[in-house]
Amino acid sequence: VVDQGVPEHSVITTCAYCGVGCSFKAEMKGDQLVRMVPYKGGDANHGHSCVKGRFAFGYATHQDRLTTPMIRDSIDQPWREVGWEEAISFAAERLKATQAKYGRESIGGITSSRCTNEETYLVQKLIRAAFGNNNTDTCARVCHSPTGYGLKTTLGESAGTQTFDSVMKSDAIIVIGANPTDAHPVFASLMRRRLREGASLIVADPRHIDLLDTPHRSDAQHLPLRPGTNVALVNALAHVVVTEGLEDHDFIAKRCDTEAYRAWRDFISEERHSPEAVESVTGVSAAAVRHAARTYAKAPNGAIYYGLGVTEHSQGSTMVMGIANLAMATGNIGREGVGVNPLRGQNNVQGSCDMGSFPHELPGYQHVADATARQRFEELWGVPIDDEPGLRIPNMFDAAIEGSFKALYVQGEDIAQSDPNTQHVEAALTSLDCLIVQDIFLNETAKYAHVLLPGSSFLEKNGTFTNAERRINRVRKVMPPRAGKEDWEITVELSRALGYPMDYRHPSEIMDEIAQLTPTFTGVSYDKLERLGSLQWPCNAEHPEGTPTMHEFDFPIGLGRFAITEYVATEERTNRRFPLLLTTGRILSQYNVGAQTRRTDNQVWHDEDVLEIHPSDAEMRGIADGDWLGITSRSGQTVLRARLSERMQPGVVYTTFHHPASGANVITTDSSDWATNCPEYKVTAVQVEKVSRP
Ligand code: SF4
Repeated sequence: VVDQGVPEHSVITTCAYCGVGCSFKAEMKGDQLVRMVPYKGGDANHGHSCVKGRFAFGYATHQDRLTTPMIRDSIDQPWREVGWEEAISFAAERLKATQAKYGRESIGGITSSRCTNEETYLVQKLIRAAFGNNNTDTCARVCHSPTGYGLKTTLGESAGTQTFDSVMKSDAIIVIGANPTDAHPVFASLMRRRLREGASLIVADPRHIDLLDTPHRSDAQHLPLRPGTNVALVNALAHVVVTEGLEDHDFIAKRCDTEAYRAWRDFISEERHSPEAVESVTGVSAAAVRHAARTYAKAPNGAIYYGLGVTEHSQGSTMVMGIANLAMATGNIGREGVGVNPLRGQNNVQGSCDMGSFPHELPGYQHVADATARQRFEELWGVPIDDEPGLRIPNMFDAAIEGSFKALYVQGEDIAQSDPNTQHVEAALTSLDCLIVQDIFLNETAKYAHVLLPGSSFLEKNGTFTNAERRINRVRKVMPPRAGKEDWEITVELSRALGYPMDYRHPSEIMDEIAQLTPTFTGVSYDKLERLGSLQWPCNAEHPEGTPTMHEFDFPIGLGRFAITEYVATEERTNRRFPLLLTTGRILSQYNVGAQTRRTDNQVWHDEDVLEIHPSDAEMRGIADGDWLGITSRSGQTVLRARLSERMQPGVVYTTFHHPASGANVITTDSSDWATNCPEYKVTAVQVEKVSRP
């Protein structure tokens, strides 16, 4: 792939990096991709893009791409290149033998948030229909699963409430635990435009993020909380709203469950939630919290945006519910300019959740215990569906180590590198009799695999992605799959070999099936997507052209439900041995574990992970900028170079997780969200000391 030459034709498709979901014109010369041009007609980006979508596509034709299926009997043997038929048959026989020996529940699969809706739908269908259990999970487990739980419990739907464009009607914007200029750049530009027009900005984050430096916004408010104290902070904000009479009583009376509201109001009014009472917990001055609460509650339109700094905590789900409480209490739901908006990290993390990847939910968030929903699937799929939720990813790892879980099919996800407590994950993967990895590269997980199935990049397939604003965008094939098959075709063939034939000629037929089974998708079809460009679900008879703003007149659960959000301190505490708190994030030019961005031929993609440390903490330890540092936690240790930065508060250090060698996940803890098991990546007690060059 080269960014030069005169294009002969172009194909409109969707970026495969972040959850903004920018549309691009892939300009082609023959079957060579010449360049990616941001598409002016894109409903999410209107012709804008960031460096990743515009330039970081060279990985698609990188020499590291897997192009031939491979198998081996055990992980200490070398790989053997084979044809597709032999690889699929080998995988199917191993899966069948494992189930025959260890039982129906002994196998499972993981769907990918990088793949299309149609492809994730097929993997969970394979697991439910061909494996005969609900042992399906998604990489959203480690990022936004608390969003699913928290928003469904309070607002009745596991998704953000607004369009991106809605921010242009916001008067006060709260950003919690997100760094949009690095992680969601195109949306960040829109938000900045609104801030320059006069909207107020409140950032709750342990670190000083770039958004706070938006020109002409010297009044931007920063609440630099200590990692792990989100819930105490959101409760304090809500306490001010309630005790200072800043609630929207009309909204609460008409739209919310008043019994739940009264219980919550009694809870949140208690003095122990006041900004003064929690000042020593959060580290944020009471005056700053009161000012922020008043700014948000008094604004005509107040919007909240949040990221993994909210969800990746032991109280991730509680915090999401706390955010929803705050929005309902102030009437900031159901119109443009307001709402609760999770900023999704991966291109299709919303879609992989929508498509039934979770072990307790069928597509459209229909619980497996719901007999009516199950019956619809059973009739169309022709098999019984288990009414018991299956295993989540961490439960699969535990069961593998304990010996009852023996085979795993992983679609496009490097679990060995991206899941917490690397040593535990490796022990689990080593215990498996059969690990099938379907990916575009030989990733870290593949070291433990018995079958390698080469996947296809976003340029080599047809399908759809759903972005963070519930927008379903078309993904169009730009070039033929390098290994000869699109990912959905691999799943279809594996299912057939397992004795459960699936029959589709094109991903549009898979979408037609999704529309038949998913109430929020009944109006979605490829024809309509061609006509309208994109669609935001729910898209059904009531909303045939989609739903830009959710919850305008009611909630899917009828009335909004306030939730009691008791703050519980994380078990991860600092002490004399581990005196600093480590938190993590991303940079603009890298993406997740860097599998794609590091395979792009441009120096900007080859920087390193560093440890940001406040100058006072550095001075205390004799650390200078650029020194090598040993970082030790209760779980493990790693080495990073120092960057002295006043973006950090004293006592808190920060790193990114883009390079395998930096080993951020080697030092993160075992703690996870109480409701969803989402790992607590954002709080790790560490010691930092100068070491000689590794
Ligand atoms: Fe791709 Fe996100 Fe950048 Fe848009 S903002 S070009 S979707 S990485």
